Amino acid sequence: MLNQPLVETSSLARLLSLEPQQWAKQQPLQSVTFAPITSHGIELLIKREDLLHPQLSGNKLYKLHGHLQAARTASARCLLSFGGYYSNHLHALSYAAAALQWSSIGLIRGHRPQQLSATLSDCERQGMKLVFLSRREYDEYKALALSSTELPASLETSLGQPLFDIYVVPEGGGDAPGLAGCGAMMNSLRQQVNLAQATVCLACGTGTTLAGMLTASRPGEQFLGVSALKLGDQLTSYRQSVEQQIDIEIPARWDIIDDSFFGGFARTTAELFDFIGEFETHTGILLEPVYTAKLLYQLAGLAGRGYWPTGHKLVVIHTGGLQGRRGYPDLTPPQS
Ligand SMILES: *Cc1c(COP(=O)(O)O)cnc(C)c1O
Repeated sequence: MLNQPLVETSSLARLLSLEPQQWAKQQPLQSVTFAPITSHGIELLIKREDLLHPQLSGNKLYKLHGHLQAARTASARCLLSFGGYYSNHLHALSYAAAALQWSSIGLIRGHRPQQLSATLSDCERQGMKLVFLSRREYDEYKALALSSTELPASLETSLGQPLFDIYVVPEGGGDAPGLAGCGAMMNSLRQQVNLAQATVCLACGTGTTLAGMLTASRPGEQFLGVSALKLGDQLTSYRQSVEQQIDIEIPARWDIIDDSFFGGFARTTAELFDFIGEFETHTGILLEPVYTAKLLYQLAGLAGRGYWPTGHKLVVIHTGGLQGRRGYPDLTPPQS
């Protein structure tokens, strides 16, 4: 695999030499007409963070920024992190490491499949070393790495190389360094739109992006996080886990709803694909099924039920992740 050329990374290297504040300023806030929402007198504005970079759309680079700085400070030259077959996080991390001419290691939950996912093939092409682990090993390694205990020698054996100069990025890119870059998205947003009578809406996985934006929020602002997970009676503990990531009193009002329609994380239905088709046909903006499509679907449902007063603005953060569309043969791959 390594003799394949690296995908062009100079545009990414350029991006990484700038601050998240400057990235966010360049992404347009687009006013969109989409009848299931806008026919109810609701204004729909989409912050196009999906346009950040052709291979690295969305929030994952924002979450990585603080970790890259911390790695630099620690003089680490190898990033190690965790994820599944379709991880947007590992995908972004492998490109960022390649652009910085660092190395990267991905610990993958699950056995090595006959055919790698498009996501993991990209990671390998960027020079990421993949180590496939059973669920038990994966959890064990994650716990060791996060408690900054030595990683087991068996990992060195699997990799065929000694581990040194390593910086561990938590699964999903969270923790305090992950929050900082997400706050920058909030600051740029405030310069693009008046957030009175508006709700900032975004899809949540670990909740780090939401937590980062809430950290940079102000009194009077409102947020709605739509979880890509089916939480049921764990909604309260999820809410607490978002709060725990934030070390200040949250200035804004905020709420969370979960995926109660599609059966949980990364689960899809024909209805969801129909919805994606409808949204894309009417707006020309692509969605992916795990996060952003479920977000817009839920917002359409709430708008239809009169959840917001006429004239209210929904400011939707398009968190990107469009590389993940390749896991769904029914969806056309994004142009790059
Ligand atoms: C990872 C991801 C999210 C969720 O971000 P968290 O910080 O984990 O909540 C939302 N949208 C997309 C497209 C993502 O890839």
